[in-house]
Amino acid sequence: MSNLLEGKSALILGVANKWSLAYAIAEAFRREGACLYLTYQGDRQRETVETIGAELGASRVMACDVSKDHELEALTQTLRSAPGRIDAVVHSIAFANREDLARPFLETSRAGYQLANDVSAYSLVAVARACAPLMTAGGSITTLSYLGSVRVVQNYNVMGVAKAALEAAMRYLASDLGPRNIRVNAISAGPIKTASARGIKDFSSILDYVAQRAPLRRNTDPAEVADAAVFLASDLGRGVTGNVIYVDAGFQIMGV
Ligand code: NAD
Repeated sequence: MSNLLEGKSALILGVANKWSLAYAIAEAFRREGACLYLTYQGDRQRETVETIGAELGASRVMACDVSKDHELEALTQTLRSAPGRIDAVVHSIAFANREDLARPFLETSRAGYQLANDVSAYSLVAVARACAPLMTAGGSITTLSYLGSVRVVQNYNVMGVAKAALEAAMRYLASDLGPRNIRVNAISAGPIKTASARGIKDFSSILDYVAQRAPLRRNTDPAEVADAAVFLASDLGRGVTGNVIYVDAGFQIMGV
């Protein structure tokens, strides 16, 4: 590749460890010459993400729990002092109670529904509002979604509903922010073994099913998701906004 993100500052939220999709994205952004700003959710992840940040040459590693408005405000203040301008934001964050990813969707509690939607969908709105004032030269906001937003996937349950809200929020944000030349898109990734994915009951059977039936007859590699994120953040993606781009070995086209 060839420095597709040279001169750009990128804020990446959602690195927890080396299996995180956000980690693969950070690696690819670094490869393409971006200046990286990483966040971690809380103290439990601090050391790991700081080590990853050092390894990737990140300019800064900051705490940000997206369910806390004051942490988002602090993030904006920190980024305003340096680098001052942000060109690309990657939102790679989701959470639902484990029991809601194992029992029938019908059993979802009000609290579980609100939690999943707050952390996994509303947070995109909150992050976009916090970052847009720093995106003074326009830029790109990318979130991560999954097929469970539009199809029923076993045990994905409340997270599927949250991803539907996330994709709708992405479109409304694309409309609001387009006049400022800020593009907002989602990448719908195929299933990949990460810490979050392991919270979904029988996740490995989903991996097997997809590998057998996807047109490419295999699962998705995190690096493939990361390269799509590079495209969206780069000037190559300048005409693309309000889209859900599937990086899933083609699985989403298949019927019977
Ligand atoms: P992951 O567990 O590595 O990443 C999830 C991240 O969300 C973690 O870094 C976690 O700290 C963060 N997070 C959760 N609650 C937070 C909060 N309140 N504040 C800040 N951060 C918080 O797993 P992943 O699979 O890399 O997930 C990243 C994104 O990709 C998620 O949106 C997920 O739904 C999406 N996705 C994953 C797959 C897959 O199969 N792994 C497929 C499609 C989409």
